[in-house]
Amino acid sequence: MPDQDERRAELAANLGRVRRRIADACAAAGRARDEVTLVAVTKTYPAQDVLHLAGLGVGDVGENRDQEAAPKATQVSAAGVDVRWHFVGQLQRNKCRSVAGYADLVHSVDSVRLAMALGDAAAQRRESPLDVLVQVSIDGDPARGGARQGGPPDTDLDQVAEAVAAAESLRLSGVMTVAPVDWDPGAAFERLAGIAERLRVNYPTATLISAGMSADVESAVEFGATHVRIGSALLGNRPALR
Ligand SMILES: *Cc1c(COP(=O)(O)O)cnc(C)c1O
Repeated sequence: MPDQDERRAELAANLGRVRRRIADACAAAGRARDEVTLVAVTKTYPAQDVLHLAGLGVGDVGENRDQEAAPKATQVSAAGVDVRWHFVGQLQRNKCRSVAGYADLVHSVDSVRLAMALGDAAAQRRESPLDVLVQVSIDGDPARGGARQGGPPDTDLDQVAEAVAAAESLRLSGVMTVAPVDWDPGAAFERLAGIAERLRVNYPTATLISAGMSADVESAVEFGATHVRIGSALLGNRPALR
């Protein structure tokens, strides 16, 4: 158990640096700072870290695995702390029921079948619609997940967007991507911005763009990100194998 005062101080220092990077990137891009929401990705780190971050003013927390996120969300809420939970990882259909119970925004819907399963789960578990982003694959590599334009029907971007929009219990709120490792992130985020703009023609509520992680937040902000998902720069380096 690390000393909690030390841990809090470490998180505060990291948070200061991350906020500065976001503010500088907004200034460089001529954007207002409040256009960009920091999502602290706390995967592999304990609920106590979420409580520290919440105490430091972080209101948005991201997780990528339901097995870890569900108990963490319960612990945080049991401590009387309210944060917005973002589900950012690949989502299995059999986890939709659980995720729909605590998530405020799901960033990673990338198939028609998943959209339908999440829609059913949200209808059962929620009073208000669940905000959903369609995860976009920029390079078509199936390993990272993501829908793409002209893909097979189940993962075709337009069909996934249509399935989300058709579900009364879901709200199509925008798009998300993870930049391919072998791409210049700016090129990936510029392409995502084009896709987001095209989607907004048919779906005016799809205004959010989730892009940018610890290594590439600057170029994500340059190309219009409204949500940046920051893990290691805030919490420290995760062990390589989880
Ligand atoms: C882990 C993760 C992040 C955060 O990555 P860092 O490089 O640690 O900032 C962002 N998005 C997704 C989907 C993740 O799984």
